[in-house]
Amino acid sequence: MIGVAVLGSTGSIGVSTLDVIARHAERYRVIVLTANGNDARLLEQLRRFQPAYAVMADETAASRLDAAVRAEGLDTEVLAGASALEEVVELEEVDQVMAAIVGAAGLRSALAAARAGKRVLLANKESLVVAGHLFMEAVASGGAELLPIDSEHNAIFQCMPTGFRDGLAESGVMRILLTASGGPFRNWPIDKLEQVTPAQACAHPNWDMGRKISVDSATMMNKGLELIEACWLFGTDPGHIQVVIHPQSVVHSMVEYADGSVLAQLGNPDMRTPIAHAMAWPARMDSGVGSLNLFDVARLDFEAPDLMRFPCLRLAGEAMRAGGTAPAILNAANEVAVQAFLDERLPFVAIAGIIEETLSALSVESVETLNGLLEIDRRARAIAEQFITARV
Ligand code: NAD
Ligand code: MG
Repeated sequence: MIGVAVLGSTGSIGVSTLDVIARHAERYRVIVLTANGNDARLLEQLRRFQPAYAVMADETAASRLDAAVRAEGLDTEVLAGASALEEVVELEEVDQVMAAIVGAAGLRSALAAARAGKRVLLANKESLVVAGHLFMEAVASGGAELLPIDSEHNAIFQCMPTGFRDGLAESGVMRILLTASGGPFRNWPIDKLEQVTPAQACAHPNWDMGRKISVDSATMMNKGLELIEACWLFGTDPGHIQVVIHPQSVVHSMVEYADGSVLAQLGNPDMRTPIAHAMAWPARMDSGVGSLNLFDVARLDFEAPDLMRFPCLRLAGEAMRAGGTAPAILNAANEVAVQAFLDERLPFVAIAGIIEETLSALSVESVETLNGLLEIDRRARAIAEQFITARV
């Protein structure tokens, strides 16, 4: 039996992961489930999957959950707080860690899984954006297996040659073609973007995701974060990655080789495919995703991204080129700005400006320690919050 810890099990990726696991109960056993504050949903998952441990970041929610677990006589130990997340991923009976917490809040636990040499199923792209160098080092020194869950990166991984870790040029790879749906506002008149509501931004045309990543898709910061994520995962730079708008979200990304071949991975837009791929790799298993009907899809469109409409994509590329702490600052400012937009304290079109102002306010340093990066994250959040408050 393969033991799995699902971090962020109550979220969109977490629920899809449990769906895949339930289809293969003879092979995978859930050891740990975790959530931030939704104890009701976590309790339902505990009843169904009976893990040895449950962790809740929110202490009050954890005590409610603990009381319910005792009352029902469930055999799960309930732990509380962020440090418990790091402890549970290190458990010997945990073989695979699904890192599906949203935002920089997922960094410490993902890093702990890498250091502990687990198979890390990485959905939390923010970990790589904030601490790419540190994270890849932890994977190498811990002897972890890093499998990307983000659909594009999972597609790229599937199209890469086996020896790609020795260098892309050496293995005949010319460039990565990173596809993007373009989000819900790809064709909206630019002046209408002023009035975008959180509900509109969260209604993605092809994917059903958590609220933060849905807003990131609408601003295309998601593709910006993914550009940075791809640089770390595949050891390359933004100059070797072309973002391609592909509204149907059927081609999940491509790899171009020196001989002119372009390999693509296609499939229905359903995260259970990359999840099942990464869990079973190098084998294959059923994910529950239906067969791709190309006659229904009928056509595949591709176009260049519009950096005027989507300044966040430009900012992310610039931050990666600047290096050092710039991507961590970008990520922190984005998290704060997106939350302010979701709380209706900031217009949609102002998100990019807050990020750009925060990047200008802080100088780029080279910081290689976790505590150093978390300190930058805190400072960038505080500054972004000041810019948001100053607007009104
Ligand atoms: P979500 O909002 O649906 O779920 C987030 C999960 O994290 C929840 O279980 C929540 O309880 C937990 N969480 C939130 N804040 C926390 C905190 N401070 N401490 C501990 N736990 C916390 O998000 P999602 O859409 O499932 O996305 C999760 C991650 O996967 C993100 O990094 C996202 O970018 C990435 N991702 C998601 C998708 C998708 O289709 N949803 C696709 C690619 C990548
Ligand atoms: Mg993606």
